[in-house]
Amino acid sequence: MNINTCIQCARCTSGCPVSRNNLNIRKLIYFEQISLKELPEEIKSSIWECTTCQTCSLRCPKDCQPMDLILNLRKAEIEKGRIEESIIQIFESTYLFGNPWQRAREKRVDWNKELNVRVIKEGEEVENLVFICCTIHYDIRFLNLLKNFVLLLRKLNIDFGIIGEEESCCGSEIKRLGEEGLFLELKQKNEEIINKIKKKRIITLSPHCYNVLKKDYNLNAEIYHYTQFLYVMKEKIRDFIKKDNKKIIYHDPCFLGKQNKIFDEPRELLRLITDNLIEFDQNRENSLCCEGGGGRMWIEKKGKERLAEIRVKETVLKSAEVIAVSCPFCLLTIEDATKVLGIDEKIRVFDILELIFF
Ligand code: SF4
Ligand code: SF4
Repeated sequence: MNINTCIQCARCTSGCPVSRNNLNIRKLIYFEQISLKELPEEIKSSIWECTTCQTCSLRCPKDCQPMDLILNLRKAEIEKGRIEESIIQIFESTYLFGNPWQRAREKRVDWNKELNVRVIKEGEEVENLVFICCTIHYDIRFLNLLKNFVLLLRKLNIDFGIIGEEESCCGSEIKRLGEEGLFLELKQKNEEIINKIKKKRIITLSPHCYNVLKKDYNLNAEIYHYTQFLYVMKEKIRDFIKKDNKKIIYHDPCFLGKQNKIFDEPRELLRLITDNLIEFDQNRENSLCCEGGGGRMWIEKKGKERLAEIRVKETVLKSAEVIAVSCPFCLLTIEDATKVLGIDEKIRVFDILELIFF
């Protein structure tokens, strides 16, 4: 972090999707610059509003990395034990069961009783090792996504397998909530297992797993988000898909788009599905966050209208029928917004994988 080079230009705050609530990242930097002893209570609690979308760090002309200040402040709060009950539960669950959803480890691959995907053991070989993600493992909402992915890989004659019960949470959100010690434990556990499997690639289904595996883990394989992996085979996939004219609007997940510049691959996959792909006004690098990252899936913050609701309202204005996503958190937050607005029958939210065999 280069706090002292900050010129207080406010590009960070003007791009921050949650600045309409209490969080003011420019002000936080200023307080840090003047070495304020104790932050005002309202400012201190606002650090939990951050979705770690990284827009502030990407926009800063002085490379101050403002998001890292939030992460450091979160770490300090955790060290002092000043955290909300909901976050304590996430840490406990991840520590005890390897997932933040308070579910038993032995239930992790219940979905595989039906799909029968090969579980790869230490020393065994597989071309593509799929890292599934806690949310997709446990939430029944993602069963069709898993079914479609497995069906597609089988149709493409791809050699693939999963880690199974031994897969632990990737730790992306744990790290971004500021629990570095627990994150390092999860990382070490996963690295030990993954590095003992002989594979060419690791394919992730969530952009959050993708981002952390790629940037924070030491793994002996190439790492792909599934949209990148399938994009390479798009000509083959075209043969299996019944294309129609459904009006689909694509929402860029922050951890895939902004943070990893994967913008075109998901769109190209969607163009295999529809001739009628449209865009949100704020898209690609300027996409609006869904408000599910940085642990916000578990932290309820009362504030102005939720960002996911803004997304859904724009979808109505543009008369799209489907919001396509490529991230489990985006799916849950945006689908929830359609329910809150009472239009879940009219506007459907699907992951690209669900749309492939819709
Ligand atoms: S964008 Fe960078 S330089 Fe400008 S106020 Fe924010 S942290 Fe400071
Ligand atoms: S990471 Fe995103 S939500 Fe957090 S302060 Fe920066 S712009 Fe705001």
